[in-house]
Parts: sequence; C-alpha cells; structure tokens
Amino acid sequence: MTHSPSPTPPAKAGAAPKSAVQKALAKLGLVSDIDLALHLPLRYEDETHISKLSQAREGDTIQIEAVVTKSEVSFRPRRQLIVTVDDGSDVCTLRFFSFYPSQQKALAVGNRVRARGEVKGGFLGWTMLHPVCRSAVGDLPKVLTPIYPTVAGLPQHVLRKEVLAGLARADLSDTFSPGDLSQVNHHALWTLRDALHFLHQPKADVALATLQDHSHPAWQRLKAEELLAQQISQLHSRRVRAHLRAPLLSLVVAEPTGPDAEPVLLSLHDGLLAKLPFALTAAQQRVQAEIARDMARLVPMHRLLQGDVGAGKTVVAALAAAICIDAGWQCALMAPTEILAEQHFRKLIGWLEPLGVTTAWLTGTQKAKERRDMLAMVESGEAQLVVGTHAIIQEKVHFKNLALAIIDEQHRFGVAQRLALRSKLRHESMEPHLLMMTATPIPRTLAMSYYADLDVSTLDELPPGRTPVVTKLLNESRRDEVVQRIRAQVELGRQVYWVCPLIEESEALDLTNATQTYADLQAAMQGVVGPDGQAAQVGLLHSRMAAPDKKAVMASFVEGHTAVLVSTTVIEVGVDVANASLMVIEHAERFGLSQLHQLRGRVGRGAAASVCVLLYSTPEGSRLGETARERLKAMVETNDGFEIARRDLEIRGPGEFLGARQSGDAMLRFADLGSDGALLDWARREAHVLLDKHPALAQRHLERWLGAKSEYLKA
Ligand code: ADP
Ligand code: MG
Repeated sequence: MTHSPSPTPPAKAGAAPKSAVQKALAKLGLVSDIDLALHLPLRYEDETHISKLSQAREGDTIQIEAVVTKSEVSFRPRRQLIVTVDDGSDVCTLRFFSFYPSQQKALAVGNRVRARGEVKGGFLGWTMLHPVCRSAVGDLPKVLTPIYPTVAGLPQHVLRKEVLAGLARADLSDTFSPGDLSQVNHHALWTLRDALHFLHQPKADVALATLQDHSHPAWQRLKAEELLAQQISQLHSRRVRAHLRAPLLSLVVAEPTGPDAEPVLLSLHDGLLAKLPFALTAAQQRVQAEIARDMARLVPMHRLLQGDVGAGKTVVAALAAAICIDAGWQCALMAPTEILAEQHFRKLIGWLEPLGVTTAWLTGTQKAKERRDMLAMVESGEAQLVVGTHAIIQEKVHFKNLALAIIDEQHRFGVAQRLALRSKLRHESMEPHLLMMTATPIPRTLAMSYYADLDVSTLDELPPGRTPVVTKLLNESRRDEVVQRIRAQVELGRQVYWVCPLIEESEALDLTNATQTYADLQAAMQGVVGPDGQAAQVGLLHSRMAAPDKKAVMASFVEGHTAVLVSTTVIEVGVDVANASLMVIEHAERFGLSQLHQLRGRVGRGAAASVCVLLYSTPEGSRLGETARERLKAMVETNDGFEIARRDLEIRGPGEFLGARQSGDAMLRFADLGSDGALLDWARREAHVLLDKHPALAQRHLERWLGAKSEYLKA
C-alpha cells in the first residue's frame, strides 16, 4: 500500500537522503527512539472505509473508491487538473490547482483510485478540491491514519515511518512503582507500551472525541507519565537542597529575668513589632511564623510568599530581616526596579534605622563615590541590610556574611538571574535563606507542578479598613467625563494616577503618548484648587527619565504635592500612596491581565472608596479582540488576585503565564493543569514512592521524559 499525500509524489519524497530526514527530525527535537515514540499525532484521518457518493452530504469528508472516466488539464480560469471519477453510485469532479506529472499519470482514465477529501455539491454535481489520492490496490488500512506535527521538507508519510520505527525500537518498559497498581488502576491507566501503540495507530472504532480531548485512557497514561517526570525532578531538587547548609537564624527570645532585674534589651524583631502603627493580620502572623520556622533550620529556606497587591508583604519581609540581623548576619532585599527598591528602602529605613540598623543601598545609577562607600559597607559587614536592584548580584559586590536574601516581585526576574543570585550569595559552604515575594499569585495546580520545590506561604487576607476598588470600563470617547472626575477628586484633596502604555508616539502603534496626556491634563487642571488652597500640580514619570528626576517626581507624589501623576508602567509594582483614590489606565486593552491587576492595586490602599477606570479604544469600526475583551471583563468582575491569576492562566496558558519561554523550564506538552489535578495529586505521591523505594526507576523515568533537560533540572 502506498501512502502518498497530495501533492508530494511518493517517488520524490521517498528518495530524500537520510541525513536530510534526520536534520528535519532534529528540528522537531526528535533525536532518540523515545523522542520519536513520544511524538504524538495532532489528529487522525479515517481511511479505513469507503463511502458511496450517493450517500454523501454536503461538506462531509469522505473517502471514495472510483474509476477515472475523464482527465484533462484546463487553462481557464487558471491552470488546473480536472478529473472525473465514477464510483458506481454517482460521479465526482476532482480539481487540482497544483499537481505533479506523476499525479496526473496516476489519475489517468481507466485507473481505479481512492480519493479522500471534502465533498461539495452544486450545479455540476459533486466536487472535491485537492483530495488525497492513491491507487486502489491492497486492503484498506485497519487503523486511523495519524497526522503529526511536522516541519517543511518532512512529509507525513516519511515522518510516520520514522515514528513507527522509533516506537518499535524504543524501550517502553514500565517505570511506575511495581506492585502497587491500585492507584494507577484507579485512573484506569494503560501501560505505556499499549498507550503509545494505540495513540500512533488507533483502531477505527475509537471515539475520536476522547482522543481529541485527551480523556482516553491512553492519553491519561501519557499525562500521568509526564506529570510524574516533572514531580520527580522537582522533588529531587528539593532533596538536593535539603543537603545544603544555611545559617541558623533563630528568633531571639528574651530570657525571663527576675522581677527586680533590669528590663531586657528588646530584640530588633520585637522592637519592630512594638513600633508598628498597626497590628499584624492573622494571615501576616501565620506566614511570619512559617518563615521564622524555616530560618531557624540549618537547611536553606526556599519559600515563596504570595499575597495580593496591598496584602502587606513588606512588613513580613522586614520582620524576617530583623530576625536575620538579630542573629548577627546580613540581609539583602532585591527589587526589580529602582523606584520599588527606593520604596522599600524608605519604608525599611523608617522602621529599622531608628532601632539601630545600618542600611546600604545599591543601584545601577549610583555615583561612583557613593557606590564605592556602599560596597565597602557591604564587604565589611557594617551594612546589616542591603537594599537595591540587580546591582546587588553584580560581581564587585562581596557580602561579609549574607544569610537571608529577599526578592520582591520575583516573577520579574528570570530564572537565570535567580540562579545567579543563589550562587552569588553562597557564603563559603553556606547557602543563604531565600524568600521570594510575588503579588501575582500562582494558582494551586501551577504551584504544585512548577514550583513543587518551593514552599509557599499565602497572605490570603487584606489589612482591615480597605474599601474594595470599583472598576469601570469606558470607551476612549468618554475621556472628557474621566477628566471631570479627576478634577472632582483633586478638589477633594485626593490623588490620581493616569497610566499610559508608551512614552512616544509610535506610528505602528497608534498610542497616545504620555507627554501629550501630561500636557492635556495640565491644561485641564488649570484653576483646580485642592482643599489646602494650593493649585493642583500634574507630574510626569516615564522610563526614559534620569533616575534623580524620577525620584523627585515620585517623592512629590508620595508627599502629596503632586495631585495627578501621569506615568508609563514604571509605577507598576509596589508603589504605596494611600491617598490615591483614582487610577486611570489608558489603552487598557493593551495590557496583560496581571499587569492591570497590579496597577489597580495602587489605589484602594486607604479608607477612601477608590475607582479604577479602564479606558479602551478600538480601531475605527472594529471590535476589541477576544482575549482583550476577556481580560477587561475579568478586571470588572473580580478584585481577587487568585481569581485573576486563574483567569490569566486560562487566557494565556501556563507557558506564557510563567514566562517559561525564556526560562528554559520544561513545559508540559500533554497534561493540562486545568483539568488534570487528580493525576497531578497521584504523580506527587508516586514521585515520593519512586525516589524512596525505586531510585533506578525514577532515574530511568526522568531520562525517558526529560533527556538532556533532566540535568538542567537537577542543577
Ligand atoms: P504589598 O503586599 O503589595 O507589598 P505593602 O506591604 O506595600 O503591600 O502594604 C500595603 C500597605 O498596607 C502599606 O501601607 C502597609 O504599611 C499597610 N499594612 C500592612 N500590614 C498592615 C496591617 N496589618 N494593618 C494595617 N495596614 C497594614
Ligand atoms: Mg510590595
């Protein structure tokens, strides 16, 4: 039986030199036998039976077996091969706009052929455009024909042959723990061998829908395999970390002294707690205890603190820093932007410096002299707390005894930077404790699978006294109303953010430029006076400004001198101005969902009712794109960061959600975390069993699924 999908004739493709095929396979990442065996079909075509034309319905995709009664090349309206075939029940016209001479020959009058394609009815009877044709010799195939993802130069029938050969050679022996199959049976899983053979060549009577939605037991087995590999690699790296050593940072407890003794000097930690103008929420107390417990162990902490914007992560970080400094070690706090670092710096200084802590500050834009002084303080150990941007992990920075590194908005740092941080901060044979913070909560299934080697603490409660932000969606045409609203807010003494997506007019993206908006708002605020009798000031902040200018603009807003701050997304993270009660986001349709949520989190930090206005615009006469609409809808419908994260994951998929394209993390190809939670639970348990009792199987499983990447994951 010859398989010759049109338009490539068999003779030509079959003769492709081996090395070219292998090159094409390599492009698909198919190098070893197991790679080939795991290259699964995108879909299937059913060539297992023949339909009669007389029973066809318009638009059906069918295979017919018929005799060619007429074959001609026509030149009007353009060159085409027109073939008429008769299957005994009716006739059908086959049309080819591109064809090889060999195809024309195969479709000569009198030949019996099988043609597969979509039939269209019409005036002139049935027609098929570019059907797949082959000569009607031999039996019909007994299985569905798989269609694989491929690349140019690698026709389906060649790839199919390679895949089946790889499948036959590959070691498909079981790597699940032997004996205890009850768990596996619970999921009705097949063996890997059966599952792969089936998926490459399913019997024609299979319910196609179960292959498409991956609910078929064969698919379940593959998903279970894949999730297991991921869980083993994460559990393995967690265990490797358990053998590393970290400084023991235990909370200093004041010794009880006799009734007449002098008052004991308070620890920094207790001193800070006593000085805070608010009581910790129950959630803050809980996560604080989780962190303190980790730091009091000799194993490096590897903890993610997640909490919605405004949940109060900074104070938790400050308390962790206090424990570290109390124990006589240095603490570093790294933030992705200078503005954010500055905010932390100010807050932490405000809290800790009066308690006697010495702080150093490192950024890329520092003056040489200042930087030298700071570096000296870091190296001598005089600086107990070091705050800054990426500058902290640069080569010239030497800590005397760093024991705790805190990374804020960790998702903004790439995996490479995080790895650099860890190795950079290694102190002799000691690893520092690592606390990462994020305001982009990670949905549970993602946390379990991609961050399984992280411990997660969640701030699931906002500090009291917040009024939820009301979100409004307005068309750009209603900009004037928004400006009116701004004037009213400013007259009440409130402050306003206006966020623009780009700095300069770009011809390609017709975006309003921040400078123009700034000028417009300045004009609109003429004559507006705040309750203090001062004329309203408008400020402009964008990423191309020099650092000192940025700082000055920000400081003026923080101190309340500036009423309206026009800004590009530089304010995205962490800025804390409780008096701001209105946030306007222009071209909101251009922002990602978690970005919008972060921006919205800048307001609603005080007791005043706050509003977030999402201004959107659409090109003349058209509608918002589907995903943009979903994002804006999610923003209006919920304020809950976890729900936002869940929807974001749904809209973008885990790859983009995690930014994994750049990170090199192994992504899941088959499993869908949205629907495979039960398998994930199983995979977690199985990974423990394998690593504990059958390490050789675990190793084999990892190599099979991750190949070269398994080394990276062990790193
Ligand atoms: P985020 O989690 O987004 O980093 P922040 O740490 O900036 O949030 O906290 C937001 C605001 O809430 C800050 O002004 C902070 O001082 C305040 N805050 C934090 N914890 C509490 C609390 N328990 N009670 C009242 N206000 C709090
Ligand atoms: Mg923060």
